[in-house]
Amino acid sequence: MATIIQLKDISKIYSGGVVGVDHVSMNVEDGEFVTLLGPSGCGKSTLLRMIGGFEEPTTGQIILAERDVTYEPPYRREVNMVFQDYALFPHMTVGENIAYGLRMMGVPKVETAPKAIEALKLVGLPDKIDQKPHQLSGGQRQRIALARAIVRKPKVLLLDEPLSALDANLREQMQVELKHMHEKVGITFIMVTHDQTEALVMSDRVVVMQSGLVSQDGTPTDLYDNPKSPYVANFIGKTNFLPAKIISRENGTAVVQVGESQVNVEIDDDFRPEENVNIGIRPEKLHFATGETSTDSNIFDGEIEEVIYYGLGIRTVVRLPNGKRLETDDLLPESMSRTTLPEIGTAVKLSVAPHNVRIFSREA
Ligand code: ADP
Ligand code: MG
Repeated sequence: MATIIQLKDISKIYSGGVVGVDHVSMNVEDGEFVTLLGPSGCGKSTLLRMIGGFEEPTTGQIILAERDVTYEPPYRREVNMVFQDYALFPHMTVGENIAYGLRMMGVPKVETAPKAIEALKLVGLPDKIDQKPHQLSGGQRQRIALARAIVRKPKVLLLDEPLSALDANLREQMQVELKHMHEKVGITFIMVTHDQTEALVMSDRVVVMQSGLVSQDGTPTDLYDNPKSPYVANFIGKTNFLPAKIISRENGTAVVQVGESQVNVEIDDDFRPEENVNIGIRPEKLHFATGETSTDSNIFDGEIEEVIYYGLGIRTVVRLPNGKRLETDDLLPESMSRTTLPEIGTAVKLSVAPHNVRIFSREA
């Protein structure tokens, strides 16, 4: 794959000294769907606006298709942006809205109509060409905004929280549609979201940001299975953390002391015996141990403190003898029904396989 965008040491310091983006370097490959993910205020929109040319970086360089565009205005870049609020012109029809950008580019009028229809077909709304934005639903307006952005055939499409104005059901549907659309048009997509599920569902690659920095960058499964920091482990999915100490290690496995239990873990990083660490276990990797639990599983004894039934499964909070708590999240076994849920106060054993226990350095 060819590299379409190179960000080299990009920073943005706003007047007053607020750091928006802090020395970010990354590449985006041609045709990729990359998502910038992180909590509000971490610099996602600032980074996207700099790629789009709506904001000038304080340091660094932006290379688009092998051309330095760092100080080029938006209309000189082969990039287009879909804004959170769609920014459709209310007094224009759908067709006029889509043709507008083409006309600004100097495309003759006879050519704009067929191109607009083609773009509308792509988003599944060719019959809406003569309607005004206020006659459309939120989801339809969203698609029109997309059609308007792709009609100019940019090399890269930038999307800032494109689905945030939609209600939950429609948002889920649009996540899949947008992903299919990306596959169809073959344009590089860079999206911003604060919603981890959205990022995992839609993207080839997710860039997790924290305070203007890139915290970790990888495929959805990479980030979920191998978070490099407690921040990522807890921002993508949920993680139980317990303080622990490494007792011994041998090649790829280590034994750690966690409260009163000794736990086997698979380990690939550079941890030393005697080191104080935190272990992380995802709630869905903990299971209620029954008689036939395999012998290499780790077992935690505890007592049920809370049970939450949500149809598909149950979440529980289990208190360990040292007072620490573990959350579990498990599909409801067929043998269990709402009326046979574990009771509060019951003594239980939780098991987790060694490869589902992560170790994090205490300082991270
Ligand atoms: P995100 O999109 O991740 O929520 P932003 O990129 O909007 O984050 O903001 C990053 C940081 O920069 C925040 O601290 C925000 O308050 C600040 N910021 C954003 N835009 C401006 C601006 N125009 N002027 C000053 N500070 C800004
Ligand atoms: Mg934002």
